Amino acid sequence: MQAWASARRLEGARIGLVPTMGYLHDGHLSLIEQARRHADAVVVSLFVNPVQFGPNEDFEKYPRDEARDLARCEQAGASAVFLPPVATMYAPDASVFITEERLSAGLCGARRPGHFRGVCTVVAKLFNLTLPHVAVFGQKDYQQAAVIRRMVRDLNFPVEIVVAPIVREPDGLAMSSRNVYLSEVERRRALGLSRALQAAAACVAEGGAAAAAVRARMAEVIDAHALQLDYAEIVDAESLEPVAEARRGNVALIAAQCGRTRLIDNRIL
Ligand code: AMP
Repeated sequence: MQAWASARRLEGARIGLVPTMGYLHDGHLSLIEQARRHADAVVVSLFVNPVQFGPNEDFEKYPRDEARDLARCEQAGASAVFLPPVATMYAPDASVFITEERLSAGLCGARRPGHFRGVCTVVAKLFNLTLPHVAVFGQKDYQQAAVIRRMVRDLNFPVEIVVAPIVREPDGLAMSSRNVYLSEVERRRALGLSRALQAAAACVAEGGAAAAAVRARMAEVIDAHALQLDYAEIVDAESLEPVAEARRGNVALIAAQCGRTRLIDNRIL
């Protein structure tokens, strides 16, 4: 991978990276499209990274379809697909990991200990392997994008970070590889997340609102859809610190359990 990337660089090509865990949907394809706008050669990585999954999470049963992913990457105009086996990525005695200590403390970081350590480590490795000038991430994982930006800033990675908007199903559900886990009933309940975010946006449409009231409104919508709320927060867009007064430009983030599936979504108010 490094040899391929070095050769492209010597030719003067600008390399774009789209890191994914595969089982590609239209959200992933929109990232490839963005990457093509920012780069000459786009590398898509397909790697279900064991280090970012907790012991009781879905690493083993995470959906995989390599043949379909390869076809979709080719169709979308990727120049290369990088699918490293786990054993190639991690030596059995690997002992260096990257931890971000502020932005990853709350939200998903608080519920999934070690998750962002796994994300930072694998993204740093993918940067070193694919030598990108630019890397594209989705707003779907808002906290992840913020943590990666911080890692790039604080460790001086020579990589420009682009964050692409959330791609949704026609009814509003944010696309996710994990949506395939949902039964028909759960699929309808899952709309509670985007509807809760819509309700949050409505709360601040005419000016500020107490964040506690907005969070309560979001919790109500989640309840009404028979989902189990994990968190509903209104945070500052940069620091990810919870705000007392919700205003335009803040971000509403939500996570909920839908049956056995954990779903996340967010919206810039
Ligand atoms: P994943 O394969 O879930 O790790 O996601 C790989 C990349 O695709 C991440 O940067 C995600 O934020 C992004 N992504 C996932 N779902 C969507 C979506 N619905 N819209 C835009 N980007 C997405």
